[in-house]
This record gives sequence, C-alpha cells and structure tokens, in this order.
Amino acid sequence: MTPIGTSPSDRLIFAPVGISHLTADNADLLRAAAAGRSRLRFTTAAQLNGVPHFGTVVTLLTVFALAQHTSDVLGLPASIVFDALDNAPAEHLTIDGETYTRTVGDLIDSGHLDRTERVSGFEHLLAWAHRRCGVPFEFRPYDAYQGLHSVRTCLRTLAYRHNDFAPIVAPRDGIIRIRPRCPVCRLMQKSAKDLRITALVDAIRLDSRCPHHGPYTEMIPVDGGGWYDANTPVRSIQKGYLLAAERDLYDACSVSVDGADWGGAWHAHVLAPALATLGISPTDWPISLFTPLITDRTGGKLSKTLYVTHGAYADLPELFLNLDTLLAQHGDDVLEILWAEATRWAAEPRRLHRTYTVDYITALLDATLPITPIRTA
Ligand SMILES: [Zn+2]
Repeated sequence: MTPIGTSPSDRLIFAPVGISHLTADNADLLRAAAAGRSRLRFTTAAQLNGVPHFGTVVTLLTVFALAQHTSDVLGLPASIVFDALDNAPAEHLTIDGETYTRTVGDLIDSGHLDRTERVSGFEHLLAWAHRRCGVPFEFRPYDAYQGLHSVRTCLRTLAYRHNDFAPIVAPRDGIIRIRPRCPVCRLMQKSAKDLRITALVDAIRLDSRCPHHGPYTEMIPVDGGGWYDANTPVRSIQKGYLLAAERDLYDACSVSVDGADWGGAWHAHVLAPALATLGISPTDWPISLFTPLITDRTGGKLSKTLYVTHGAYADLPELFLNLDTLLAQHGDDVLEILWAEATRWAAEPRRLHRTYTVDYITALLDATLPITPIRTA
C-alpha cells in the first residue's frame, strides 16, 4: 500500500482554472438553485452498448460521489436517475444506399441480443456505487423516458417551431431527427431523409417509409403511447426541458451530470441556445456538471473503439489494454480505488475541472492494487 499523502493523486499539480477560483467547493455550483428546495435530483445517461467503457465507469462513480458530497454539504437528500439508453443502434444495414438501424432494445425484444449481457455490467456498477455511498438510484429505460409528459411536450414544441430549432439540432442539413421505426420489422432510417414531422394539437405525427414494408405513420400523443427515437441533440434538449420542469414537479434542484465532452462546445452551441429558445428562465435551467475526461497519450478522449480500429495509435499503457481482464479479476478493488479518486473530484473544484490521462489512472491503479500479474495476462 502507498503511504497516505504520497499517492499519485496527492502529487498532482493544478494549473489555475477560472471556475476553480469562483468556487471553494463544488457544492457552490448548486447552492443558489438548491435554496428553498427539498431535494437534489441527479440524472445521468449511458448507451447500453455492452460492458461499460472505462470512461463510463469513471463518470458513473463520479455522479454518485457528487450526489453524496453535495447532499452532505447542502443538507438535502439526493437521488440519481440513470437513463439507460437502449435506443442505441445495435445493428446497421445498408439498403438501396441508405443506412437503417435497429436498437439495442428491439434486438433484445426479438431475442437477437441477450438482455443480461447488455445490462448486467451497468446494474452491477450502479448497485456497487449505491452500496458504497447510500444514494438511491432509479434505472430508467429509454421507453419510459421518451413517454414522459414533459419530454413529449418539448417534442411537440420542437415540431411546432421546426424552423427555430432545426439550425440548433441540425446545423448541417436542417433535418430534425425524431425517428419512428417500422411497425413490422422495426427498421429505422438513420438519415431520416424520408421523415415528415407534423405537429398536431395534442400529438406529433411522424410519417416515414420502410424499404421492405412501405409507408407508415407513428402517432406520438403528448399524453403517452407511441414510440420514437430522438437523436442526441434532440434528447439533450428534451432532457434540459424535463429537468427544468422537474424543479417544480419534485420540489428539487435538478442536476445533470455528463462527461466533459458534453460541456464546452455542446453546451454553448446546442443546449444553452435551445433552453433560451424554449423560453426557460436561466433560474430554472438544470445545473450542468461535467465529469473529468480521461484522455489517451495524444490528448484525445479515451476510446476503446478507436483503439481497436487503429491499433496502437494512442499508445495506451499496457494495463489499459487489459482493462476488461483487470475489471474481471479485481472488479470491486478497482472500483474502490476509482471511488476514492472520484470522491476527491466531487469535493474539490480544481480536481473536477481538469482532465486525467491514462498514465495517471494507471499510476493510481498500480500504486494500490495488491498484485500486478495482469500485465502479462
Ligand atoms: Zn419494415
């Protein structure tokens, strides 16, 4: 074991960052929005694309650590909603030059994917974090999310005011991607080229076309029923709207936590302009917190997919190449090390508002894990 005070975490140095000067504790970012409210309500999301990626593990642990820490400091109970995005594409088909997809959820329903394999890694992680800190969580599938009244209300507004929102959610081609799926075979057209969106008084009508089964219509009533896939910007805006509405619905301070890549440019060009266009007062905007980005040695976001595609381009440390094995062999010990780190990020602004490299994380794990035969595994 490394003596207290000499861990890689203790040896870090911190360049001055603006927001760190403004706050003494990360709870300061919630303080005004939480005043007079009876609870803190955190939300985060991840695509259910198999075993949680290392970045997702770190983000989820940080969400729990932030909920626990700010709850302690502000003296309010906290809870977490985990949006399990089983609408992530799991199958891609090219038909007549167009890309069509089926979702994780649809392939689980049809028996082509195993639900346990897709979900158990996330469930284990959430249950572990809950046991570790006591903050309760709700596991919300996409089907439940897309049917929420506030989410549907926002959808109708986007449809009604198509010309106001298209430049925000689709600056390149102006196509707002609210995708229906074929009622027979559940194929969805990725480009949404054949999609027609019609805003009705109490519903949204989506007309599209299946390459196998022809034209079809999906009705999305504001009060529930029907199903649609919202692409990332649409979902992001709906979530902002939902969390603003939930301030009153739950008498809560709504907090959205995501990886840092949803901060800067995304927040500036998509979420903030959309919330302003929706006419939501900034005092009702959800608090957006961003968890530190884990980067490879070139400074890019750690991406196992990219690593697999491009081989050793990012020159990952050996331990990271065996991360799945590491998690399999040392699962909860690894989580404990990352939890200790995440609790420091959750409290200290200078630790939250920065990035960490794979070499830093490797040093952290190396310093504490009891054995290292994993390197030759
Ligand atoms: Zn079809």
